[in-house]
Amino acid sequence: MPPTTQDKRKTAPRAGSRGRAVPELIFGDLWEYDPAPETADPKLKARYDLFIGGEFTAPKAGAYFDTINPATEQKLADVALAGQADVDAAYRAAQRAFDTTWGRMPGRERAKYLYRVARLLQDRAREFAVAETLNGGKPIKESRDFDVPMAAAHFFYHAGWADKLDYVAPGRKIAPLGVVGQVIPWNFPLLMLAWKLAPALAMGNCVVIKPAETTPITALKLAEIFQQAGLPPGVVNIVTGAGETGAAVMAHPTPVKVAFTGSTEVGKVIMRSLAGTDKKMTMELGGKAANIIFDDAPLDQAVEGVVNGIFFNQGHVCCAGSRLLVHEPVADRVLAKLKNRVRVLRVGDPMDKNTDLGAINSRQQLEKIGELVDSGVKEGAEIFQPPCRLPAKGFFFRPTLFSGVTQSHRIAREEIFGPVLSILTFRTVDEAVEKANNTAYGLSAGVWTDKGSRILKLSTELKAGVIWANTFNKFDPASPFGGYKESGFGREGGRQGLLDYAKLT
Ligand code: ADP
Repeated sequence: MPPTTQDKRKTAPRAGSRGRAVPELIFGDLWEYDPAPETADPKLKARYDLFIGGEFTAPKAGAYFDTINPATEQKLADVALAGQADVDAAYRAAQRAFDTTWGRMPGRERAKYLYRVARLLQDRAREFAVAETLNGGKPIKESRDFDVPMAAAHFFYHAGWADKLDYVAPGRKIAPLGVVGQVIPWNFPLLMLAWKLAPALAMGNCVVIKPAETTPITALKLAEIFQQAGLPPGVVNIVTGAGETGAAVMAHPTPVKVAFTGSTEVGKVIMRSLAGTDKKMTMELGGKAANIIFDDAPLDQAVEGVVNGIFFNQGHVCCAGSRLLVHEPVADRVLAKLKNRVRVLRVGDPMDKNTDLGAINSRQQLEKIGELVDSGVKEGAEIFQPPCRLPAKGFFFRPTLFSGVTQSHRIAREEIFGPVLSILTFRTVDEAVEKANNTAYGLSAGVWTDKGSRILKLSTELKAGVIWANTFNKFDPASPFGGYKESGFGREGGRQGLLDYAKLT
């Protein structure tokens, strides 16, 4: 007979902690599930060309690169490497589309295309979810339940605005900017694409966009949907490649606006390259969000939110709650609960529907996470990793908790972009605010407390673009998202996001 959960509990009390001691759960093999692999066909092509002027087009220099599955390290497809001549062609197509069709089309007509894209994406949702997971490494339950539905939601939401643009800035005359250039990262390949394209298109702009080099597939699959939807040629042009292609997209003379999501380091390089031009810019850069738990918070709910905030998508989230600030009276209890929760996280095959943490997106990212975790140990923080088995191939990292972290530790200051939580403690509200704001970033924060007045106080004092209260990582296309300080500027989503793609007179 298998042991019961009760048999497997240790009940050593923890000193200095308010409330009952938290029993340590040692689940062992109790939670071994049978595999539940997703089987839908992602309908991948062996080779993906550039999407320029409504057609899949071979790159002028004939160069291709491999795109792989980070969970197996196996090649998925050849992807075109766009050079300067291809980027020039993409911008020519975008300018032509803006001048001849899209820029002149009434908003109510543009809306029809956006609705069509949203519906087609819903029709092919499972196929897209599988492609996203294969190329990016995130668990299928995330791409299926979050990324793809949210991407469709962005097209639906902005389709709804396209014929109501006069209400975006009442009393002003609103018009599209023209052609815009966009570069996106690998953590939400399809969602970032939708997030960037939908407002730009709804406003009447035409786009050249570059997905990240490790995750180009769903962007090119979305190009198939643009063809299916009959989107006029050149309204969206997709060029693939690495940093050099990205630099060519950002520095090109044609776009009147560029929008970038990625690292603060690359964001700064782009801003330097555009200094002195009159291009509009939106930058969504790094983050080091604090999740703050007060002693009156519902602790189980808070622990679940913290786990979701940092282990969701392997911590590959710029607004990840990578620092936990916990009120001293409940610090031991929260740590014990977190350890119990982390012990039962399932790490492994992203295509398994039970998997909580999938693959890290690339070897380079895996090495970066490893290096920062080593620094945490060297600098004296206490590490906890559950003893889960990792797959022999592919890029995987155990969920990691660090307690006893101080503000000077690198793991408290630098963006890790992996499943690593740094835990600090505080005694007073002011100390919590000061520690939460003691970072170069300002993208998001979370507050867990029973007191509404405290939530209101913190939401004005925390220097972050998004503040979640008694929840974390909640998104909605109607809600503007963006940062302060080194997390960037400009907002995406909602009326504010549309304004960033509009000319007002
Ligand atoms: P991350 O650390 O999230 O990978 P990066 O900033 O390195 O973020 O990459 C985000 C996107 O920026 C990717 O599409 C990448 O190819 C692109 N990129 C990298 N270097 C440059 C650059 N110098 N100019 C423009 N885009 C770049």
